[in-house]
Amino acid sequence: MHEGALMNLNEATLLNNVRLRYGRDAIYTYVANILLAVNPYKDMRQLYSSEVIKKYQGKSLGTLPPHVFAIADKAFRDMKVLKQSQSVVVSGESGAGKTESTKYILRYLCKSWGSAAGEIEARILQANPILESFGNAKTTRNNNSSRFGKFIEIHFNDRMSVVGGYISHYLLERSRIVGQSREERNYHIFYQICAGAPDSLRKQLRLSSPDHFQYTRLGCTQYFADKESKQSMNADRQSADHRKKGPLSDPNLDDAKDFARLDKALATIGLGEKQRLDIYTTVAAVLHLGNVAFEDNPEDRKGGCMVSPSSEQSLATAAALLGVDPDELNQALLARVMQTSKGGAKGTVIMVPLKTHEAHSARDALAKGIYSRLFDYIVSVINQSIPFSSSSYYIGVLDIAGFEYFTVNSFEQFCINYCNEKLQQFFNQRILRDEQELYEREGLGVKKISYVDNQDAIDLIETKGGILYLLDEESKLPRPSAVHFTQSVHSGCGGSFRLALPRKSKLRDHREIRDDEGFLVRHFAGAVCYQTDKFLEKNNDALHGSLEGLIHESRNSFLQGLFASQAATNGKAPARGKLALGSVGSKFKQQLSDLMDKLNSTGTNFIRCIKPNPKMVDRLFEGGQILSQLQCSGMTTVLQLMQQGYPSRAPFNELYAMYKKYLPKELARLDPRLFCKLLLRALGLNEHDFKFGMTKLFFRPGKFAEFDQIMKSD
Ligand code: ATP
Ligand code: MG
Repeated sequence: MHEGALMNLNEATLLNNVRLRYGRDAIYTYVANILLAVNPYKDMRQLYSSEVIKKYQGKSLGTLPPHVFAIADKAFRDMKVLKQSQSVVVSGESGAGKTESTKYILRYLCKSWGSAAGEIEARILQANPILESFGNAKTTRNNNSSRFGKFIEIHFNDRMSVVGGYISHYLLERSRIVGQSREERNYHIFYQICAGAPDSLRKQLRLSSPDHFQYTRLGCTQYFADKESKQSMNADRQSADHRKKGPLSDPNLDDAKDFARLDKALATIGLGEKQRLDIYTTVAAVLHLGNVAFEDNPEDRKGGCMVSPSSEQSLATAAALLGVDPDELNQALLARVMQTSKGGAKGTVIMVPLKTHEAHSARDALAKGIYSRLFDYIVSVINQSIPFSSSSYYIGVLDIAGFEYFTVNSFEQFCINYCNEKLQQFFNQRILRDEQELYEREGLGVKKISYVDNQDAIDLIETKGGILYLLDEESKLPRPSAVHFTQSVHSGCGGSFRLALPRKSKLRDHREIRDDEGFLVRHFAGAVCYQTDKFLEKNNDALHGSLEGLIHESRNSFLQGLFASQAATNGKAPARGKLALGSVGSKFKQQLSDLMDKLNSTGTNFIRCIKPNPKMVDRLFEGGQILSQLQCSGMTTVLQLMQQGYPSRAPFNELYAMYKKYLPKELARLDPRLFCKLLLRALGLNEHDFKFGMTKLFFRPGKFAEFDQIMKSD
């Protein structure tokens, strides 16, 4: 058995083992077939070379040091032998290394098993820089944080060559498009295009430095102010350096180079110059739109507002890029169309002037709507470039944020934690329940291990009458309100053990949150208090009527297409403005249900990524935080099982088929079960290391590899 596969575990020994191994740059460890991967925060190139890829090909798990390639290889071999699609679920908190691990798996599968031409593989691999440009951003937790979830399928034909792929994406963080918190950035693409667009494009799209665009400097305006106040007390050289370069430039990122790389990647997946220009124009339009500011209109007695004279040029540029008339854009941003209804019949259309802050939110809603649809489009063109019509099986890799718990938790955390409840249940079912059922079926006599099933937490969120349902119901009311929604959650779901009033939970300003401002959910990984003030708004990604009308009349057919395709995929023409395309929550619920169906029908491997410290530096192992990550990822329960369990197993007839060639003919004529009994006796394996079931032979952790090695070396 390799030392990276651990036995006799509890949390403390596991933590200690991971610590010792991490100290020796052994960042991977197995717990049964689950791979723990600690982010090294340093260049480990030697660990991922083509030679290493070759070394891992076709080797059973445990024969070589633990590695992400070994998991990729296991998925590939299981697909081939069991003739079943496979999936790899990669989880962990922000910065733990999920996306890097995912990329290594994709590279392994595309490099080692590719068809000769390799064009499809190249396209699949090029999908990553594209997705990262549009869907990743610098946050305080990770300089390259994925702000969306994804499930990437690599499809194989019956000869096990790569034939295509398919990407599903989940919950792009929309709020980031229009603002970021301190020291964070917007999506990479905005900085890349400002830094890297060739002169002619810069001129055409009127691009300049990110400092000149409101949407890209928001997180950093405060950053400047902060640094200045600190500087006045202490002339800090480092921050002076930072100021010189500008906080928007990150020493680890080369935005100009990344733009060139993106442009090439888009070309690789088959986008011509015109299509690339359409994409860049849309990105620039969002930037200019962000610079349109509003102020109270002193001449409007109804309290309406107007575009600030200083930003009229931005309005004109945005309108030109969006292919709409500047006056119409102006109108659509300043007033909302309302249709009066009388006794069910449609009444007259009236224009309701917006207040300054409402006009700002309308502008932001338009920017978010455009950008998120652009992201959908990007994913769909990637998918079109890697069709998989001749697919027989696939290996899917899930890279989605782990359990989140911040000082203030809103709808985004609610959705991601809902997803993690589902994944945790799947993990429990796969690893624990299936395991125990199998032991029982096979008559192994292993003690029952109890675990808390979280179905009630899932029900609280997704069933009829649950939180998501109540949220959708609230938005159908004539005057939806966060307070009323929150009250209906407490009265409607109050019976659930998983739900509680937010008492004693503190907001960022240390004020205690009131009962009608939020609710607390007891998740499998801990209780989280959600503040509900933005739930209604974040659950609805439809544009209000006048903006939607504006887009429909645009001369920019690309932009029109972005909005049209979504209406088309939803089938029916929606009522304008009202949760038209289905709410964000209900769409996510459906997506999760599809994902679960896929995971349930595949063989699954799990990778748990661990962030060693919040400073993002190498050689710093923060034990307490790592332990809590192990607990959040459900490892504690797995450890209990492991101590009593037999995680490797093989049917007698498979062992028989595999090893009979190594043995004399007389032995090979035996019944498979008897054959295995004699085999183990002959090898003199310790009796505690295996158990005979009805149809299978079971091994203690790591013992199958040992057995396999003895057999093959004989
Ligand atoms: P998020 O949820 O924010 O997207 P994540 O779990 O996807 O986070 P990654 O982006 O994969 O995190 O990793 C964060 C950073 O950690 C990487 O940009 C890289 O610098 C470093 N890193 C992660 N894994 C490795 C590795 N195996 N070798 C070297 N560096 C790594
Ligand atoms: Mg990521």
